[in-house]
Amino acid sequence: MQIIETIKKTQDVVSGIRKSGSTIGFVPTMGALHEGHLELLRKARLDNDLVVCSIFVNPKQFNNTEDLDKYPRTLERDTKLLKSVGCDLLFHPSATDMYPEKTTKVYDFGHLDKVMEGKYRPGHFNGVAVVVSRLFDIVRPDRAYFGEKDFQQLAIIQKLVQMDQIPVEIVPCPIVREPDGLAMSSRNQRLTPEERRIAPFIYQCLNEVREKAGILPVEKLKTTIESKFRGQAAFNLEYFEIVDMQNLMPVKNRTDSPDIIACVATYLGKVRLIDNIILFRNFAPLKNRQE
Ligand code: AMP
Repeated sequence: MQIIETIKKTQDVVSGIRKSGSTIGFVPTMGALHEGHLELLRKARLDNDLVVCSIFVNPKQFNNTEDLDKYPRTLERDTKLLKSVGCDLLFHPSATDMYPEKTTKVYDFGHLDKVMEGKYRPGHFNGVAVVVSRLFDIVRPDRAYFGEKDFQQLAIIQKLVQMDQIPVEIVPCPIVREPDGLAMSSRNQRLTPEERRIAPFIYQCLNEVREKAGILPVEKLKTTIESKFRGQAAFNLEYFEIVDMQNLMPVKNRTDSPDIIACVATYLGKVRLIDNIILFRNFAPLKNRQE
């Protein structure tokens, strides 16, 4: 596996690959890799001739400097993991190389970035769109792989690609969970042992919503889960929303949309965690565990 830090060299390598007619699969990450990331890479490996992963902790998408400073950086371990899944090229740029001048680009994603993560992390999705668009421009992948764990991010990237007519296929990948149900996340490392022990509560709540989704009205589902979180002192719920999977508009009745997802963001101690679960697909309730 090649490890390249400069944009120029990466561009040279990928343009040679493209000329030879080979396909490029791309997995953008912020490092501190875990099974969630590795599943994206394995899928990219199956679908493409060349697999590129980027590791870049993007300062523009953090609206909290403590979160940025504390973000785990484990490059040596990440490199070994990338080799183990057959990644061909690791692109690991510096912030000055990525952003040589002040970027002022402001995207208009309409409603998509006004709710949930967009509401609680102002500027976050603009930062994500700026970096992903820059990375796509450098790597020029045929396909790019994103996790459904960050469901709203996936919707934003799909919109970005459509708005800017970027010639890349976005491939959504299912959430990978720990055996106890906690969605894998680089942030889980920052939980204390006690917090880690109780963290699966989030997934238990999501499963309860899914089990009751065909029975209880949407508003009742919301209040049930909100009150469950209020009963757990260690958790500080930021939002729990039931939305249309396409436009992320809040859903009032289950017949409002064929595809409905429940999304949650909560602090557990000092760590902010997000997760989601699909409730209905094509108007049909999804009762069994997806994962
Ligand atoms: P990050 O390094 O957190 O920016 O994540 C890089 C990519 O990995 C994003 O597309 C995430 O949605 C995806 N990802 C992170 N955690 C998971 C997970 N538990 N399951 C599936 N994909 C994930």
